[in-house]
Amino acid sequence: MKLAILPGDGIGPEIVAQAVKVLNALKLNISMTEAPIGGAGYEAAGDPLPDATLQLAKDSDAVLLGAVGDWKYDKLERHLRPERGLLRIRKELNLFANLRPALLYPELADASTLKPEVVSGLDLMIIRELTGDIYFGQPRGITTLENGEREGINTMRYNESEIRRIGRVAFDIAMKRNKKVCSVDKANVLETTELWRQVMIELSAEYPEVELSHMYVDNAAMQLIRAPKQFDVMVTGNIFGDILSDEASMLTGSIGMLPSASLDASNKGMYEPSHGSAPDIAGKDIANPLATILSVAMMLRYTFNDEANALKVENAVKTALAQGYRTADIVTDGCKKVGCSAMGDAIVAALN
Ligand code: NAD
Repeated sequence: MKLAILPGDGIGPEIVAQAVKVLNALKLNISMTEAPIGGAGYEAAGDPLPDATLQLAKDSDAVLLGAVGDWKYDKLERHLRPERGLLRIRKELNLFANLRPALLYPELADASTLKPEVVSGLDLMIIRELTGDIYFGQPRGITTLENGEREGINTMRYNESEIRRIGRVAFDIAMKRNKKVCSVDKANVLETTELWRQVMIELSAEYPEVELSHMYVDNAAMQLIRAPKQFDVMVTGNIFGDILSDEASMLTGSIGMLPSASLDASNKGMYEPSHGSAPDIAGKDIANPLATILSVAMMLRYTFNDEANALKVENAVKTALAQGYRTADIVTDGCKKVGCSAMGDAIVAALN
């Protein structure tokens, strides 16, 4: 198996190093090759997604990514900015399905800003479409009108087949869980999502065992905070999923706990934490590496079909948390506060 390692920027290299530590400890037959992306790609080759990096990703079975971005690149032309590298690699690899599980470990019930009774036992899977919607739709840009005023344009669009394939991922995953899919849209005002709802209803006929419900995105944002345990699988478009999955991360205590998988039609995947490059804490050895380590577990499960080792990694995380190890973002009274690297070591020790 070939794995491309793309640490990226900010805390990316620190957290990816811990994930690699865990992979090495599993002693699997995986060859790993590292390449730059994001700001690191721009520094190395003048491009946030250098050709060599894209080729490596295409030639690999899976990609493990840290995060991209730094405020120092915010003034670059848009196509040179780190985030463009990320959007492009997702598009080039056709990674249309983004899986973001939000699972609350019992030990972290106090780390959430919500009351423990609201979040304890939470086990939610958010499925976000990743290669369409307003992030990619044309036309886009900032133009100047005849009267000299500037106008910003983005276009929300989805075609039927794009909606159907992400819907299928959601229904298939729901079949392996509690058989409930909540499709999130804004069908009352946006025609794009009116079509989204129609296609989800058509698709549900193929999955009679799955209970399909629909929710407007504004209500979904509210319900996630009010009563998050009502959800099993949530499926939504790119922009709504971007926002809702960050919101869901706080249910789990910290965005540093939330892994993600982005899959193509044949389960080749890119695995990355749901958070960004956190430039505010980069280089300080205080970032939480657990989202990245849990992304490795997802990689073992979804691309390498290795459920046993996926569970092994997830159980090692549970063990380390039960032993009281906490990075700064999830620390509570009476726990052992550790840095990023020490947390990686704690997981390796728990594996063994
Ligand atoms: P962010 O997710 O990087 O950080 C938000 C907050 O969460 C910060 O306070 C940060 O310190 C904290 N945080 C994030 N990850 C953490 C971890 N593992 N452990 C402990 N704390 C953590 O989002 P932002 O500040 O809005 O963006 C920073 C940069 O990251 C920007 O350049 C942005 O474009 C980029 N970004 C990249 C991705 C990605 O690579 N997938 C996603 C979102 C943002």
